[in-house]
Amino acid sequence: MKKLNQVYEGKAKKVFETDDPDLFIQEFKDDATAFNAKKKGTIVGKGVVNNKISSVLFQMLEKEGIPTHFVKLLSEREMLVKKVKIVPLEVTIRNITAGGMAKLLGIEEGIRLKTPVYELHYKADHLDDPLINEDHALAINMATQEELDTIKKLAIKINQLLKNFFEKLNIDLVDFKLEFGRCKGKIILADEISPDTCRFWEKGTGRKLDKDRFRRDLGNVEDAYQEMLAKVVETSK
Ligand code: UDP
Repeated sequence: MKKLNQVYEGKAKKVFETDDPDLFIQEFKDDATAFNAKKKGTIVGKGVVNNKISSVLFQMLEKEGIPTHFVKLLSEREMLVKKVKIVPLEVTIRNITAGGMAKLLGIEEGIRLKTPVYELHYKADHLDDPLINEDHALAINMATQEELDTIKKLAIKINQLLKNFFEKLNIDLVDFKLEFGRCKGKIILADEISPDTCRFWEKGTGRKLDKDRFRRDLGNVEDAYQEMLAKVVETSK
């Protein structure tokens, strides 16, 4: 597989074309941003951790019938993925209150929700990724009704599968963000699933093992990422 031109560089990843027109290479960086890039830094080894954790989770989800862009792990920082056109939505599922939802509703973090909360945010940095509903997405052609139905159905199933997976690691899956893409007319899961895009709290202690350690200057950021990697790799053996 030949790595060709870079087609995109985001905050945490670069994407390259390959000699196969249907495949891209996704390369994970150590760069970290928070609060819409107002806070910037480096989390040493993060790229390696996120690449590996994402690949384990994508493979687990594929096995359970979720279509994903994952093809194979190429190296420590590189993953071969199907070429997709990203739907401009950040799809969030919450099981426990934290971050944006606690702020939005003026409630404490750490409240276990009676039912999972499904949210859509418009992927637009200049607007701070505003919370929207399906009507907004439909009305301005972000996706069709059929696509939105598929995205919601997949997101709810993914939440169940991820919750079960992390349960076994003694971790509460507080919330997470997904991105979906179009590939040959079909909606598939894309992007990454990692401590950058999920909140992971150790059961019992509530110890945070995710990007909130960086966002909130809690210290031991690298250690938390390595700890999550070790846990995920251990159970996937
Ligand atoms: N999230 C993300 N990218 C974003 C915003 C949020 O991956 O641009 C993840 C975040 O890590 C958390 C979940 O989505 O697991 C919900 O985040 P929230 O809406 O609470 O926003 P935040 O508090 O991170 O600003």
